[in-house]
Amino acid sequence: MSTTANETELGRPQFFINNEWVAPAGGELHDAIDAATEEVIAVAAMATEADMDAAVRAARDAFDRGPWPRMTLQERSAALHRFADELEKRSDFTAQLVTREIGTTIGMSTILNGQAPAMQIRYYADLVLDVELEKVQPSMFGSTIVRKEPLGVAAVIVPWNYPHSIAMFNVAPALAAGCTVVLKPSPETALDSYVLADAARDAGLPAGVLNIVLGGREAGAALVSHPGVDKVAFTGSTEAGRKVGEAAGRGLKHVILELGGKSASIVLEDASMETFYAGIGASSFMNNSQTCTTASRVLAPRSRYDDVVETLKTWCTDQVIGDPFDPAVTMGPMASKHHLARINEHIEAARQTSARLITGGGRPAGLDRGWYVEPTIFADVDNGDRLAREEVFGPVIAVIPYDDEVEALRLANDSDFGLGGVVWSADEQHAIEVARQIRTGAVGINYWGLDMNAPFGGVKASGVGRELGSVGLDNYFEYKSIYASADLLNG
Ligand code: NAD
Repeated sequence: MSTTANETELGRPQFFINNEWVAPAGGELHDAIDAATEEVIAVAAMATEADMDAAVRAARDAFDRGPWPRMTLQERSAALHRFADELEKRSDFTAQLVTREIGTTIGMSTILNGQAPAMQIRYYADLVLDVELEKVQPSMFGSTIVRKEPLGVAAVIVPWNYPHSIAMFNVAPALAAGCTVVLKPSPETALDSYVLADAARDAGLPAGVLNIVLGGREAGAALVSHPGVDKVAFTGSTEAGRKVGEAAGRGLKHVILELGGKSASIVLEDASMETFYAGIGASSFMNNSQTCTTASRVLAPRSRYDDVVETLKTWCTDQVIGDPFDPAVTMGPMASKHHLARINEHIEAARQTSARLITGGGRPAGLDRGWYVEPTIFADVDNGDRLAREEVFGPVIAVIPYDDEVEALRLANDSDFGLGGVVWSADEQHAIEVARQIRTGAVGINYWGLDMNAPFGGVKASGVGRELGSVGLDNYFEYKSIYASADLLNG
């Protein structure tokens, strides 16, 4: 299949295994649909267990016998910089493609799907150069060499919401450490995964180092339980994460689980409504709230309750909803028909409770095609209501009143999840003190923005383990101790 440097052929229902495009073993196909127009963009192939087996064998062989884990850190770093260059050449194409696939507005897609993945690869390509692979320490009988070795074959399973960025949270450090990878993207973002494959091949990554096989749940399950896999990095729903964790446990594989959330945005009494308004987009509605860290519960003090509800309402009515390629548009469609139906079901369920619908709740006027829904605010939600307990993964926000900070913290922590969160206050130090008391993986103070260089992950039903930053790289090394009888330190 021929490609130019910055354009990828989309009509190829094949998988990328051993640096070759191979035909699928089975006949199941998937229509990749434009989220705004509902038109079929191209048809992709869905993997069977046999395809997954072929991909894992390729990765296993590349790890056990290939050059990648045996290269010097400098050689691997240089190869990864070439990979980043190749991805960067294709960044506009990737951004546009993901916008078609899942409706992310083009400005955001350009940054998060187009540019960020190459930056993440470069970050790990540089960080790995500082790794001390061997350290000698004295022992009772001589010396011990403590070695860091690449962990093995990594299975990386990703959702559709930021397909390349989330893939790179694990693919980049895994490759930097010398591991080989089988990546399974989500069917919703089937087509953009071809771009990653083309970039890897054109960068000259050795055969079998990165294999990309598209498939659904069953294919993902076959990958997780494959005996040739040493580590599973799963990002997705809590429901699927539990199954992945069980299967990985049975196979005694290393596992990292990045799952769902129901994060709290705590507006303190002294919070500035201007600051809150300015930050609502990133904290509660990023990518149409199809973001795991979405602050979908807003905890508002009774003394400022009306201000908070009004600010949220104003933010929603200020949005321009429509074609995600239009630079004036701030909210595009949801990712898929099935996903929109789930969101609408949550809205209908909330309407049956005592919660008050403040704005939204339906299809935006004039948009008859595409998977659109209005940004929606329910006030007076009880923290025990379904809307406050379950992840919607769409633009439906629950406002919950509280009397004092003790109650705000109790409500914030009364959740099955613990992934993100924001504290809004005019007193930054006080807000940080409140943040320390929230049981969660990350908290923003007066804004939300992921720091790609700091550890990220969840507690409780939001996941197990941490990625990003130097922890992300450590995840892909295994220690080995060599007990030498000689005194290696003093000759
Ligand atoms: P999903 O769980 O349905 O699917 C995620 C991926 O897992 C897909 O590739 C899917 O094919 C695969 N999969 C599903 N069941 C599987 C199984 N039993 N074994 C192996 N693979 C399986 O989730 P989704 O709808 O694609 O994504 C949305 C979810 O992802 C939300 O819950 C969101 O919060 C979560 N998410 C979490 C993070 C994080 O970092 N914590 C980031 C993004 C998304």
